[in-house]
Amino acid sequence: MDLRDAHCHYQFAEVPYAAVEQARADGVGQAMINGSAPADWADVAALARRDPRNRVSFGLHPWDVPTAPPGWEAELRAVLLAHPAAGVGEMGLDRWVKDFDPVAQEAAFRTQLALAVELDRALTIHAVKAIGPLMDILRGAELPRRGFLLHSWNGPVELVPALAKLGAYFSFSAHHLIPRKADLRVQFAAAIPRERILVETDAPALCPAPELRLRELAPDAAGTEQNHPSNLVRNNAELARTMGVTPEESAALTSANFARLFGA
Ligand SMILES: [Zn+2]
Repeated sequence: MDLRDAHCHYQFAEVPYAAVEQARADGVGQAMINGSAPADWADVAALARRDPRNRVSFGLHPWDVPTAPPGWEAELRAVLLAHPAAGVGEMGLDRWVKDFDPVAQEAAFRTQLALAVELDRALTIHAVKAIGPLMDILRGAELPRRGFLLHSWNGPVELVPALAKLGAYFSFSAHHLIPRKADLRVQFAAAIPRERILVETDAPALCPAPELRLRELAPDAAGTEQNHPSNLVRNNAELARTMGVTPEESAALTSANFARLFGA
């Protein structure tokens, strides 16, 4: 098995590098590591130098928009030019987070979207409670030629065809593959075009239910459970079950989709 993690954050201190090496031994090949603010871009770049399977993407996450230093746009352009194979993201819109500023979020979104178009990079989008504004932007703007990823996508399913037409890929997080969402995940597997499905962990975030974990990471200082990179293996198995294919077939499909979106 040679899986691809479409979205993760190995740069965070909660992920010891031994856990990344364990995931590789468990069948996780390449992983798209997403920077979320200028403060972590150097750590993301260091991971790219350490192992070519550490694929990278640089962006300003909506949660980090309020504290972004002046000039972050130029810094982002520079780090992207220094990494010709890198994607743009994690970026997006989030109307769930406390005290969000929709105007500042949209401005940061448009800046990063324009950079992805100009530099021909794949874009990774985080969207929480913001599907309306997201659709408005996507329908009115020039979009990256190679497409964009809606990470940890969990609805609404009726927008999937329109989004797919715009170039969207959808990555499944095991966090959403829980029993009470069983109906939802079946809808997803049925509605999303096969050539647009990916799997992700978002490790160390979005720790799945205990029965969907292959391995455990230590909780953080606040006691929050952390998602081990190896849990992608269980996520792929669940996705395969949902699609009615073998885990090997799901791995081959999602790895090919990863290569089409992010480059081989
Ligand atoms: Zn993320």
